[in-house]
Amino acid sequence: FIEIDAVHKSYGTTPVLRGIDLDVEQHQVVTLIGASGSGKSTLLRCVNGLEDISAGEIRVGGETASGRGTDVNRLRRDVGMVFQHFNLFPHMNVVRNVALAPMRVAGVPRAEAEERARTLLARVGLADKAERMPDQLSGGQQQRVAIVRALATQPRALLLDEITSALDPELVAEVLDIVRELADSGMTMLLATHEMGFAREVSHKVCFLHQGVLLEEGPPEQIFGDPQEERTRAFLRRIV
Ligand code: ATP
Ligand code: MG
Repeated sequence: FIEIDAVHKSYGTTPVLRGIDLDVEQHQVVTLIGASGSGKSTLLRCVNGLEDISAGEIRVGGETASGRGTDVNRLRRDVGMVFQHFNLFPHMNVVRNVALAPMRVAGVPRAEAEERARTLLARVGLADKAERMPDQLSGGQQQRVAIVRALATQPRALLLDEITSALDPELVAEVLDIVRELADSGMTMLLATHEMGFAREVSHKVCFLHQGVLLEEGPPEQIFGDPQEERTRAFLRRIV
């Protein structure tokens, strides 16, 4: 569903992605792992059209998602993204945060958008927080709102960038539970994470990025249990 084809990306003269090939099938969960600076966030941002690529092609649902001819509005509707630092609009309450994109991008009338927002919030246990402002919520609650906000436009895939890294350890589980439920419901997801236990449990495929190169990919049992590349082994040794 997400097709990444020989993608290169440089910032100025610094190459950050150096020929990435990666496919995410529909209903698949694919996880990017790798050291800080290996290019995980950059790759996710490219898929969502937040960054231009220097060479190669990205397609989403068969439509080009890179370069000229990309319908960025449609792309952002099809592919939701959640970031490490929730990025909720601080001056809007929770229900308006969630309802905004459907109103703006899809032209859904406010009453309907807010009703759908409340339904989604109830699904993640936040029905009673709908009128709160973001700063009146815990980090875990804010991140759950951010996930709901990404779901509000009914995307066909989700990109999740280290969505638990900024959370206190006791709040991580409530966010991962939601990702797990989304995976079980068949949501197509491409995520970057440092939570290796979670990656192992939820992923269909794990990809190890090293200095902008996809060095090794495979089912989690292989990547975590029997990695073929010395660099993958070294990375996994360092973090466990
Ligand atoms: P982390 O695990 O720390 O989140 P990452 O794998 O997500 O790391 P990226 O954020 O994709 O890594 O960064 C890859 C490289 O690109 C890094 O060397 C980084 O310094 C560089 N980089 C990222 N964003 C920019 C930018 N806007 N301008 C210049 N260089 C950038
Ligand atoms: Mg990153």
